[in-house]
Amino acid sequence: MPSPLAMPADTADAAPTYPPGAQVAVLLPLPVDVYDYRVPEDVTLAAGDIVEVPLGRRFETGVVWGAGTSDVPAGKLRDIVHRLDVPPLNEPLRQFVAWVANYTLQPVGAVLRMALNPARGGQAINRVSVIVPSGRSCAEVGVKSTPARDKLVATAGRGAFSTAAALARAAGVGAGGVSDLLKAGVLTTVSQAATSMFARPDITHALPRLEPAQTAATRALAEKVGGGFSVTLLDGVTGSGKTEVYLEAIAAALARGKQVLVLVPEIALTAQSLARFVGRFGVRPAEWHSDLSGKVRRATWHDVATGDAAVVVGARSALFLPFRDLGLIVVDEEHEAAFKQEDGVIYHARDMAVVRARLSQIPIVLASATPSLETVINVRNKRFQRVHLPERYGAAALPPIGLIDMRAHPPEKGPWGRSWLAPPLVEAVNQTLAAGEQALLYLNRRGYAPVTICRTCGHRLHCPNCTAWLVEHKLSRRLMCHHCGYGAKLPETCPSCSATDSFVPCGPGIERIAEEAMARWPHARIRAVASDTLDRPSAVAELIDDILAHRIDLLVGTQILAKGHHFPQLTLVGVVDADLGLSGWDLRAAERTYQMLHQVAGRAGRAEKPGRAMLQTHDPNNVVMRALAKGDTESFIAQEIESRQLLSMPPFGRLVAVILSGPDLVAVTAVGKQLAAAAPTGDDIEVLGPAPAVLAVLRGRHRHRLLLKTGRDIRPQPIVADWLARVRIPASVRVQIDVDPYSFM
Ligand code: ADP
Ligand code: ZN
Repeated sequence: MPSPLAMPADTADAAPTYPPGAQVAVLLPLPVDVYDYRVPEDVTLAAGDIVEVPLGRRFETGVVWGAGTSDVPAGKLRDIVHRLDVPPLNEPLRQFVAWVANYTLQPVGAVLRMALNPARGGQAINRVSVIVPSGRSCAEVGVKSTPARDKLVATAGRGAFSTAAALARAAGVGAGGVSDLLKAGVLTTVSQAATSMFARPDITHALPRLEPAQTAATRALAEKVGGGFSVTLLDGVTGSGKTEVYLEAIAAALARGKQVLVLVPEIALTAQSLARFVGRFGVRPAEWHSDLSGKVRRATWHDVATGDAAVVVGARSALFLPFRDLGLIVVDEEHEAAFKQEDGVIYHARDMAVVRARLSQIPIVLASATPSLETVINVRNKRFQRVHLPERYGAAALPPIGLIDMRAHPPEKGPWGRSWLAPPLVEAVNQTLAAGEQALLYLNRRGYAPVTICRTCGHRLHCPNCTAWLVEHKLSRRLMCHHCGYGAKLPETCPSCSATDSFVPCGPGIERIAEEAMARWPHARIRAVASDTLDRPSAVAELIDDILAHRIDLLVGTQILAKGHHFPQLTLVGVVDADLGLSGWDLRAAERTYQMLHQVAGRAGRAEKPGRAMLQTHDPNNVVMRALAKGDTESFIAQEIESRQLLSMPPFGRLVAVILSGPDLVAVTAVGKQLAAAAPTGDDIEVLGPAPAVLAVLRGRHRHRLLLKTGRDIRPQPIVADWLARVRIPASVRVQIDVDPYSFM
């Protein structure tokens, strides 16, 4: 187990410097401790400088972390090769890296890797090619001018887009249009200095006209900007104008010459955020997510470090960007579980964002219509402040949520076979389609059927690598494992009893719901949407375009459609299986189900036309369903708090999960037993397990879990570090530590 490093020593204002010949510690982006090197002739280095050093027989990029401390004889020290011509990692970021490592019990180098990776490429960061208008209009080159094409040209003129997908996304139109315009010569590609990749946002570009509640909220947030560290929950129902309000907080930070970071939970949500930003400030912000090319990634990293990129909208890893002068962080949809990074360095981006704000002494705004319980408690304890928007903007009203008791209204069998939609929901879809409006049927399950069973012997097809059923996907004609990606054709005979033609699908996924919808509404334009059909951001942009232009009447989709989006024509949301997600042991099952259903219901009736939501449930008396139907968030939260308090579960206690995995079950079990024997004891300290994980085998590796539970006022990290140090762990067993776990699989 690597020892967590202390904070960098330089807490004074100016970073300490190291003259030629000095011994310095260099932190490498690897799961190792610091190594000492010698500063070469002719340079003086400072803490934070990014340098290239020899490591074995190769070279590695690292960061000068402080004075060297190892007692290697000076003659044996290797020389630093050179200092890279990029801005140094400033002290708040170095402190942040060390803090995250300490908290998550990960090697500092592994955390540094996230902050440094784009600078490691070694290639020049100074030029990128971007798509711009050529200056010739559609008419001049003889292609038809359409609204979508005009939008593309206008958008390309406002910002630097390095890919067709990025341009199409920002313009909110399909990507095909970009290549057409490039071919026709209306758009063209030029090479640009990276420093001009991001134009300065214009805070007067399109000033909003705010409603009184929004004005009050904006004032409250603007007051925080420039006032040191603070955490504010911006809490308002879906469609109340939270985005509108935090854009003004961003304007306030920009007015002071500061940089801003906006964290969003998933790439699919960046498209609309970007469009809103362009609408308000006239330019595109920098974006940061896994879909960027290496070149754009390096250029963005560089411009964030120089301060040329004023605003970054990004996924959780944007938290580790080297902002020169960060003045505000916004975390949109702060309750989202997607902020939890589940592999590599396991961390919660919302929680770490609060830490980064504190270390940088700047304000942070957490926005949500359904704040997490952790945040609600922090508001109650006065650690966080709260700004509230109680109503939807304009004429829009919150949709009433109705429950359909599936025991009283079972779905009727149709000529197509078994069905999943209850008569009241079918009737509501009929009415919506007849009125020329759009409907969404929501089911958070990809594929056709979650389980495939042999009718003769009852055998269920399962993944050879994981403890999981194979999911039938009709569109791709394959059985898929949603955990490891294993795929196979449906076998002709049952592997257990050899019966032929004996497989039957069991339960619905969205493909099966779409099949029923097509049979029921043959004239409707129906689209099934899940993460596997929307694997590129441009596919998301095309879909949004199709929905907004009303080229789709009925959507059947998973959670990828449920959040953040604003579709004015959508007036009905039907939830096919509201109980899904409530079963199984998960600390936050009720909370997450509540948030999810509240969000998806919130897609309905966001403009003038009133909307409604209907939830199909077998358990209408469940706390979650009752609270949703009554619109009574308060009492739901009160009950959740009470039950967590009773069990001393987070946020009233602390959890650290230890996950053991390896190809050899005997070795994994043995380590589990040793850890249990060495388990820490004490007041308010408890170790549960080891026990096989729910996903007992994943990608061919056996998994066992232990869970450390402590009181709220105990720091679990030193306890865990000490515990693991007492057990010898063979190389074949991997130990993962998950502080504040969100997944219990
Ligand atoms: P939220 O982020 O709370 O879901 P949004 O900021 O997306 O809410 O606002 C919902 C819709 O109302 C958006 O289409 C937005 O443009 C519109 N809207 C909100 N406030 C205003 C305003 N003051 N002026 C014009 N449109 C507004
Ligand atoms: Zn699998």
